[in-house]
Amino acid sequence: MFALVFTSIWRMYSMSYEYCGCESFEEAKQPSFTHDKKGKRDMNIVKKAYCRTFQTVFKWAIPVLPYRSPKRLKKAEDIAPYLKKKNINNVLIVTDNFIHKSGMLKPLKEALEKYAIEYSVFDETVANPTVANVEKARSMYLGNSCKALIGFGGGSSIDCAKAVGARVVKPNQPIRKMKGILKIWKKLPLLIAVPTTAGTGSEVTLASVITDGETRHKFPINDFFLIPKVAVLDPELTRSLPKNLTATTGMDALTHAVEAYIGRSVTRDTHEDSIKAVNLIFANLEKAYEDGDDMKARANMLRAAFLAGRAFTKSYVGYCHAVAHSLGGKYNTPHGLANAVLLPYTLELYGESVYEKLGDLAKVTGVADKSLSDEEASKLFIHKIRTMNKNMGIPEKLSGIEEEDIVQLSTYAEKEANPLYPVPKLMTRKELEKLYYDVMEES
Ligand SMILES: [Zn+2]
Repeated sequence: MFALVFTSIWRMYSMSYEYCGCESFEEAKQPSFTHDKKGKRDMNIVKKAYCRTFQTVFKWAIPVLPYRSPKRLKKAEDIAPYLKKKNINNVLIVTDNFIHKSGMLKPLKEALEKYAIEYSVFDETVANPTVANVEKARSMYLGNSCKALIGFGGGSSIDCAKAVGARVVKPNQPIRKMKGILKIWKKLPLLIAVPTTAGTGSEVTLASVITDGETRHKFPINDFFLIPKVAVLDPELTRSLPKNLTATTGMDALTHAVEAYIGRSVTRDTHEDSIKAVNLIFANLEKAYEDGDDMKARANMLRAAFLAGRAFTKSYVGYCHAVAHSLGGKYNTPHGLANAVLLPYTLELYGESVYEKLGDLAKVTGVADKSLSDEEASKLFIHKIRTMNKNMGIPEKLSGIEEEDIVQLSTYAEKEANPLYPVPKLMTRKELEKLYYDVMEES
């Protein structure tokens, strides 16, 4: 039924290109600016209707789609008896070199040895993991006859492990062909996520974000089968996270909660998860930044990241993430940093389309007094983000953005976001360009 409705919408859109003045459907599929005959920046009405219909179908389908929350374990050592119970005796741990060298894997390794479970470690995951990372880890998985995957680290390692799982079950489908939504649709090997940052929420999401090392295009793969089966939420693993990463990964979690909340696919559950996450972040992020040994703040931030991840996996993110991904792919800009800097500018660019929801969020989280107008309250919320960034040494601009890259980057961002992300206001590639100029550091 769902597939039928979806196919019908796609057909309707395919047949409707003539109404936007394009010569062909291929031309109509191009980013809006290329077929904007009058030089207008706004999205044409047919594309708008298509995007909104697409998003509405996915929103209606939320109750019947196979979302699930991972089983939670307290310590990495708990993985070993869990695997034993599942009769799994050989696993691949996907991590990065820093974590491997730091000794953080030691308790897990010892527990695996105690339960006679063989393991291999792939420790070459880079920030913004690449297709080459995934393929090399996959070779290790197959070569060592592994039967399960443990993503141990920040979002990059967990995303890499997810993509390895997808490639294991889809040997004939290259990673690039998994870009977008529902391109896997096949059960992965058992996947366990052990986050060592409190931000990406990758331990609970259906997304894996991979970068094509040749084109420097960073793209998300979204599929229910990418949601890990098990997540280990141990604040001790985030204790040694450096101050700047505590700050930027925490602001990434805030971006997830805010983008899910202001989007059009918010549900009762994701509404609640977002509010709880924002409250936890406002109350704990700066504490965890100031004192990395404040384990209560660290535990609350891990919980906030999980809730924000659960919110956006159903209600999606928005243009802030699409632009951040394009910058991560091209310049390796860390994901959390890009979102932290972009978020206030993105909310301003949405303008009055977010006043009501953002104002509401500002009021329920105590940022604004209930007597204020939505516009005033939403501006206070944006001010709050800027203040947090400033307090934690996050810059107002990003270095390294080249003006000649902006057309390409905004094209990537527009293609990622439309029609999938149920943003408060639909924007064209041309409109998104403003965000790059807003955050570009003047040389
Ligand atoms: Zn994110």
